[in-house]
Amino acid sequence: MEVVCPIDAQFSEQIAVLLEPPSPLQVQEYFDELITSKQCNGIQVKPTNDYGKGVYADMEFEEDDLVLKDQMLFGVQHSSNKIDCLVCSFCFRFIGSIELQIGRKLYLQGLGSPKDCFDLASKDQIEFQHCSSTTSRNRFQLPNESIESLMHENLALPYSKKFPLPSVIDCLGGCKEAYYCSKSCAHADWELCHSILCTGDGSKSLSKKALSRFIEHANETNDIFLLAAKAISSTILKYRKLKVAHNKEKEKNHIAEVLGNHNFSLLFKAWKPLSMGYKRRWWECIALPDDVDACDEAAFRMQIRQLAFESLELLKEAIINEECLPLFSLEIYGHIIGMFELNNLDLVVASPVEDYFLYIDDLPEPEKKEVDEITQPFLDALGEDYSVCCQGTAFFPLQSCMNHSCCPTAKAFKRDEDRDGQATILASRPIKKGEEITISYIDEDLPFNERQALLADYGFRCKCLKCIQEET
Ligand SMILES: [Zn+2]
Ligand SMILES: [Zn+2]
Ligand SMILES: [Zn+2]
Repeated sequence: MEVVCPIDAQFSEQIAVLLEPPSPLQVQEYFDELITSKQCNGIQVKPTNDYGKGVYADMEFEEDDLVLKDQMLFGVQHSSNKIDCLVCSFCFRFIGSIELQIGRKLYLQGLGSPKDCFDLASKDQIEFQHCSSTTSRNRFQLPNESIESLMHENLALPYSKKFPLPSVIDCLGGCKEAYYCSKSCAHADWELCHSILCTGDGSKSLSKKALSRFIEHANETNDIFLLAAKAISSTILKYRKLKVAHNKEKEKNHIAEVLGNHNFSLLFKAWKPLSMGYKRRWWECIALPDDVDACDEAAFRMQIRQLAFESLELLKEAIINEECLPLFSLEIYGHIIGMFELNNLDLVVASPVEDYFLYIDDLPEPEKKEVDEITQPFLDALGEDYSVCCQGTAFFPLQSCMNHSCCPTAKAFKRDEDRDGQATILASRPIKKGEEITISYIDEDLPFNERQALLADYGFRCKCLKCIQEET
C-alpha cells in the first residue's frame, strides 16, 4: 500500500510553489549574485530554453587554465570512508598529522566493523578495548603499542613534518562525529546546518536519540539522506535568520503585523538555493539497478519511496520545525534527494599519506634504507590501500549547471595544490569568450551506444557533435 504523509495533503499549495522551476530571470539573478559573491570571474550562467541552463565562458581560456573553483553547497564523506581518512567536516581537508592519519586508520581497521567506529574519530577517545574479534585481514600486524603511540602522536615518523596538516578542532556542540581544520570551518558548519544535526550536548535538535537513529539508518541504507538532512537544516536556519531580520525591520518601522503569508515568503526565500537545482522525485529518477528485472520496476520504485518515507519519519522526529512544515513533506524530501541523485558529483580529496610514502620512496640511499626500517612496517600494515583518498558526494551549485558533452570543453581535475573539497574545473582545450563550458558526465571514450545508455540515467539523449557524427 502506498504510504501517505499528512503534511503533503495539508501543505499541497505551498509545496507546489516551492517546487515550481524558477523563471529565467530568477535563475539569471541568483547565479549572477552567486558568481559575484564567490568571485568566480570568467564564467556566466545563462538560462536556456525549456527551463534548462548552461555555463558560458566570459573570457578566453587556454588549455589547462583554471575555469572554476566551486564551493559545495552541501557535502558528505561516505560513511565507509571515515575509517580511512580523518577530514574536516566542512571543507574536507585532511586534518591532524600523518601520524594520526596512519595510526587512526590502523586502529579502526583492527576493530573490524566500521559501524562501531563512527564515534572513534578522535585520538582522545580511542582506547584499546579489543572490542573486536575480526582483526585478521591478512595484513601485517603491528603491536598495539606502536599504533597507539602513533595515534597519540608520541611517535614521530621521519620527515612527516614536511607534510603538515591543520590541527583537529572539535565540534562546537561536542559531538564526536564532526571534526574541523579550523575554528572558522567549525563555526561555518555550525551556522550552515550542524547546530541542528549535531548529536553532542550542545545540539539544537529536538531529540539526539532520534537523530542518532536517523544517521544510523542513512549509514545503513544510503548516505544521500544525510545530504538531504543538511539541505533541510540549512533552509530552517536561514529561515530563522530571515525572520529575525524581518522582525527587527518591522519594529524599526513600527509596522503592525499585516495579515498575510509572510512566513511562507521567508521560507520561500530561504529555499532559494535549493529551488535552482533541477529536480525530480527520487523514486522516479533513480536508475534501475542491473540486478532488478524490468518487470519488477514498479515494485522497486515503490520500495525506494518507502525507504525515503522511513528516513523522513526518523528525521521528523529528530528536527521537525513547526514553521517550516512543508520541508518535511515526502514530496519535498523526495525532490531534494532526486536533485542530489541527478546533480551530485563525487567529492574527492587526495591523501597526504600517499604523498608522504612517495616522498620516502624517493629518498636517496643510504638514507632511504634507514628511514624505510622505521616506515616500512606501517606501510605493510596499511596494505595496498594505504593511499585511499577522501571520498563522498557533494552538491556544487555552479558545476551542476554545466551541461554534458562527449567532446567537452572542460574537465573536473584536481591539481596538486587543490587540497580541499571544492570542485576544480580546468579547460581541456582553448575556450573562446561566449563558448559553452561543458564537461563529460560519463567516460566519453566509451562506444556510442554505451554512452547513450549511461546518459539515459540522467534523463537525456546526447546530441553533441561527436554523437551526431557517430550516430549515422
Ligand atoms: Zn575545514
Ligand atoms: Zn557536532
Ligand atoms: Zn555526446
